[in-house]
Amino acid sequence: MIKYLLGCASGHEFESWFRAGADFDAQSRSGEIACPYCGSIEISKQPMAPSVVTKRAKAAAQTTEAPVSAPAGGAGSSDVREALRVFTQKVIANTEDVGTRFADEARKMHFGEIEERHIRGSSTPEEARELVEDGVPFGILPTLPEDLN
Ligand SMILES: [Zn+2]
Repeated sequence: MIKYLLGCASGHEFESWFRAGADFDAQSRSGEIACPYCGSIEISKQPMAPSVVTKRAKAAAQTTEAPVSAPAGGAGSSDVREALRVFTQKVIANTEDVGTRFADEARKMHFGEIEERHIRGSSTPEEARELVEDGVPFGILPTLPEDLN
């Protein structure tokens, strides 16, 4: 499972889950992904998202079946936002920031070249797609409207 931050031609942003990067490409091409705000099907992935690998994320990636699509941020309740904030803080407190080396580190752990640990960092859409193709499980952290402090 991979979460992409998507944007429509009018500049609306929303998030959606996909089983793999290729699913986004296929659904986008066939016009199955529409902006929840204006209905545009001119959807593109937004660059750079913070990513994370944890043992829990791996387990979730292996057990989750169907892709789920849900617009985020629109009518977002404060409960959901608070839960995301707590989740993100917990992830940040329990992971090592490897920055832009994220994709490399995640791949090495997946193939047993280095010991598994919890890491977070940034990956480009290209790197994320390669991780998906290599079967490396990882998650995308939710982006929050306000800075964490
Ligand atoms: Zn839109």
